[in-house]
Amino acid sequence: MTKIPMTTPLVEMDGDEMTRVLWKEIKDILILPFVDLKTEYYDLGLEYREQTKDQVTVDSAMATKKYGVAVKCATITPNAARVKEYNLTEMWKSPNGTIRAILDGTVFRTPILVKGITPYIPTWTKPITIARHAYGDVYKNTEMKVPADSKAELVVTDKDGNETRALIHDFKTPGIIQGLHNIDESIENFARSCFNFALDSKQDLWFATKDTISKQYDHRFKDIFAEIYEKDYKEKFEAAGIEYFYTLIDDVVARVVRSNGGYIWACKNYDGDVMSDMLATAFGSLAMMTSVLVSPEGNYEYEAAHGTVQRHYYKYLKGEETSTNSVATIFAWSGALRKRGELDGNDALVDYANKLEKATIDTIENGVMTGDLYAMSTLENKKKVNSEEFLYAIGETLRNLYN
Ligand code: NAP
Ligand code: MG
Repeated sequence: MTKIPMTTPLVEMDGDEMTRVLWKEIKDILILPFVDLKTEYYDLGLEYREQTKDQVTVDSAMATKKYGVAVKCATITPNAARVKEYNLTEMWKSPNGTIRAILDGTVFRTPILVKGITPYIPTWTKPITIARHAYGDVYKNTEMKVPADSKAELVVTDKDGNETRALIHDFKTPGIIQGLHNIDESIENFARSCFNFALDSKQDLWFATKDTISKQYDHRFKDIFAEIYEKDYKEKFEAAGIEYFYTLIDDVVARVVRSNGGYIWACKNYDGDVMSDMLATAFGSLAMMTSVLVSPEGNYEYEAAHGTVQRHYYKYLKGEETSTNSVATIFAWSGALRKRGELDGNDALVDYANKLEKATIDTIENGVMTGDLYAMSTLENKKKVNSEEFLYAIGETLRNLYN
């Protein structure tokens, strides 16, 4: 077949370890035979981050602002062990953190469902997407231990030096306190990202906080969502036949468990941290979870939700066979290519992205899968294959979809 042309390049962010190995194989086996791939390449592998003093990470985020769509491989976030292993001059920050700080977005995570892998809640027949606010609250807190016989207060000093005070607690015995904050603009960006994503994916949006208890803080989240919805999204939601629904966090948890899935669940930062791990586990596996960062300006960065799969990489280095699941990384590529195709009016590219996802799911549902899925699948005729065989099997299914 003639290769599908592209007009605008994708921002390609390469990464580390086993996922870097899979990255190249996905391109060679599944993309390059079909697409005349155009990318602007940034090597976020730890060695090149070290060489460029992490400038490459910043450059890749700026390129995402320029072109609008990026696809990212999993990367090492250095810790003390990595500083030694890679002989680093500095413990470079998490690339995801750096990119998120530049793009200022919301992270949406969606499980990929396949026949044979039954969620722990079997009535979840459609995916549940978590949208996690990625700024503030307990992640930017200030906290203290308080000795006995002390008074703790909140003090706000305005630009003229006027103080507003509120008593937190009059301590008779020792205790603890914590100061949290968030910023209206960040909450507004969060709300817009969620409303836009709901419209994009034609799914209802659910949002919950504890505004009955937190009458100022959580209530502000509720109000900002409601104001923006009324002003800018209500009509669009009605036209699209989707719903915005607000309730309390404990109520939403009960409703999620009783639901069939098929909606977006917007979460405050901490709720999103906790609930996304619960959902990933309940749906089966982190290797079947996609992740996209959507900025308020409408830039998209697609990636897998898992890490670099270090343990498999060390086996690979020793020449041992690996059976690493590439599905989330394949879906990062398909997500980015589909979005690029939509923005460029490139129907063939959108169709290719859809076919790549279908081929991946069909391959697993036909019984060919990596070890992690093999251990969970209830299919009768299932076969465990290695990392590369899995990609070749998808390639064959994909070719058949074009014939
Ligand atoms: P991980 O790479 O997610 O892997 C943890 C374990 O989960 C693996 O050992 C494997 O279990 C299983 N697993 C994860 N993905 C899999 C896949 N695609 N196929 C099969 N099994 C999979 O987490 P980690 O080992 O804790 O972290 C490794 C590195 O990744 C760290 O340096 C961390 O900084 C980085 N990281 C990056 C990102 C990111 O870039 N977004 C996110 C998280 C972590 P078994 O070993 O039992 O097979
Ligand atoms: Mg977490």
